[in-house]
Amino acid sequence: MEQRTAIVGAGVSGLTCAIVFAEGGCRTAIFAQQSGQRTTSGAAGALWFPYDAEPADKVIAWALETYKVLVDLSRDSQTGVSMVELRSFSRTGQIPIPDWAIPLGARRLTQPLIPSGIEESNLFTSGFTMEVPLMDTTRYLDYLKERLTNAGGSIHGNVRFERLEDVDREFDLVINCSGIGAKMLAADVNLEPHRGQVAIVPKIDTLSCAIVCDDAPLMYAIPRTNDCVFGGTNEVSDSCDVDLTSTSRIVTECSGVLNIDKPRVLAERVGLRPFRKSGVRVESDRLRDDRTVLHNYGHGGSGFTLSWGCANKVFQLAENVP
Ligand SMILES: Cc1cc2nc3c(=O)[nH]c(=O)nc-3n(C[C@H](O)[C@H](O)[C@H](O)COP(=O)(O)OP(=O)(O)OC[C@H]3O[C@@H](n4cnc5c(N)ncnc54)[C@H](O)[C@@H]3O)c2cc1C
Repeated sequence: MEQRTAIVGAGVSGLTCAIVFAEGGCRTAIFAQQSGQRTTSGAAGALWFPYDAEPADKVIAWALETYKVLVDLSRDSQTGVSMVELRSFSRTGQIPIPDWAIPLGARRLTQPLIPSGIEESNLFTSGFTMEVPLMDTTRYLDYLKERLTNAGGSIHGNVRFERLEDVDREFDLVINCSGIGAKMLAADVNLEPHRGQVAIVPKIDTLSCAIVCDDAPLMYAIPRTNDCVFGGTNEVSDSCDVDLTSTSRIVTECSGVLNIDKPRVLAERVGLRPFRKSGVRVESDRLRDDRTVLHNYGHGGSGFTLSWGCANKVFQLAENVP
């Protein structure tokens, strides 16, 4: 493709898209206010699993496409991607195993593998297990950046646009990967910030699998190479401030489930999941100056899970731009 491509956003969506375009032979540059660790992507868990994103049919297809890419990346230890056992639990009744998860090896957990916890509130009633990719964001986002620059792409930080038309006219194709920023840049009233907070705690030697429960209170414990991510929260709010009460609640809940003493908190991270009520937006549109814009935002709680599937779809759309 001949297009000179500008990508707005340096989170997982922008970086992944930029790699697909740069490796596809396009001149590609990212422009973003914040990059890497300082984005919502930098605050994520980031397990592969479809969560808090619509619509189900498209989400599952993009997720499964991404799964395959991530399994390949997990074979290279430099990427920060590894395969991890995910144990997903419910607090009431029998947890359903999604149909799409069965071919990936999902199977029901039985006692004694269902944590009984310390308190009544830590009690789980059922669960399933499967192997999923885990992206250690402290390494994966750097891997994506390096892969992009190796393919000839560039990243320009500290650039804030008021409008997508402000992208330099030397670029004939604009790709909008601005996450929750699309609320303003694409004037999208369908976008809703689903605020998430996590606590980073020291590595827990006894924890070798990721433990997740989506039933309230949302809880997850994700072991990474050098530390562990405790979560979490999900509420409609655009506050990026750390809430100390939430940290305390998260640490108490996770420690209770894991049956361990409360660990010290190394860091707290907050991000705004870009949830779009009408569904993830991957589509072509026109800017007021008649350039084509390809939107790629609204991934909610699944930005990592959908990243490669959506980036490939954006590339296909670009191939059809006259
Ligand atoms: C606590 C938490 C846990 C999560 N766990 C998972 C998980 O386990 N698995 C999973 O798949 N997903 C998870 N998510 C969701 C995932 O993090 C998001 O879906 C994903 O980060 C969205 O990526 P993005 O690149 O679209 O947006 P972002 O990472 O938010 O990046 C947006 C980019 O656009 C830039 N930008 C925005 N506005 C402008 C502007 N006006 N001008 C210039 N630049 C602009 C920003 O600076 C940034 O670079 C989690 C999220 C949170 C908060």
